[in-house]
Amino acid sequence: MKGEARRYIILFGAQGSGKGTQARLLQDRFGIPQVATGDLFRDNLKEQTDLGRMAKAYMERGELVPDEVTNAMVQERLSRPDAQAGAILDGYPRNLNQARALDEMLAGWGAQVTQAIYIEVSEAELLRRLTGRRVCRECQATYHVVFNPPQQEAVCDRCGGPLYQRDDDKDEAAIRRRLEIYMQETLPVIDYYRQRGLLSTIDGEASIEEVNRAIVAAIVDRRTP
Ligand code: ADP
Ligand code: ADP
Ligand code: ZN
Repeated sequence: MKGEARRYIILFGAQGSGKGTQARLLQDRFGIPQVATGDLFRDNLKEQTDLGRMAKAYMERGELVPDEVTNAMVQERLSRPDAQAGAILDGYPRNLNQARALDEMLAGWGAQVTQAIYIEVSEAELLRRLTGRRVCRECQATYHVVFNPPQQEAVCDRCGGPLYQRDDDKDEAAIRRRLEIYMQETLPVIDYYRQRGLLSTIDGEASIEEVNRAIVAAIVDRRTP
């Protein structure tokens, strides 16, 4: 799709801020896929690939998988046919090194980051959301036992797959470690996009629908060649 309009939208926000939930809605709205590094790593774990085996220990500790591995995985994903018009990046880039790698990757394709969205949510609300989060084992759709329950308990509305609770959502120590890493490593990345005038900050404590409306309003006119 060289020369045609492409959108590369980055979603920022701490764990539990609603990135995955919103990315799913945005991919339907804009016709570009959600590319979630956490989901890609979990797929590799499930399929027991070399990449999955390598990432496992980091994921269990709530630490970042090394950048070279992560960047290569993202490059491969963004090269696939369904991502030729762009993507909604969820969980990537998570540090400045990854942000620079993404810039280089896109520049190599004659593209660039079109917009970054920062979904802001208080820590108390993040903990409520993460402890009640449930994920579909088949399609990775996310639910919440109270805030966004499936129609039938423990069954995915989208695909009928079984819902489960991620191990790293069960362990409060792991949750805190992930939030801490997020503060240390990802806030500087958010600033990196703010300084380039690409950042929109959205209040993430409204309903899923309201947050979605605010994000769509922020990005609708930002497509660039
Ligand atoms: P969370 O946002 O709740 O930490 P994710 O689903 O985004 O969960 O990621 C799960 C795990 O996958 C992370 O704890 C980390 O080990 C790994 N991971 C995800 N994205 C990245 C990334 N951009 N760089 C390095 N590791 C990542
Ligand atoms: P992230 O991808 O940023 O970690 P998720 O999209 O997985 O976040 O959302 C975390 C949890 O919070 C999920 O259980 C989800 O159903 C719930 N959730 C998402 N957005 C909202 C919202 N606006 N209000 C209440 N709960 C929400
Ligand atoms: Zn499903």
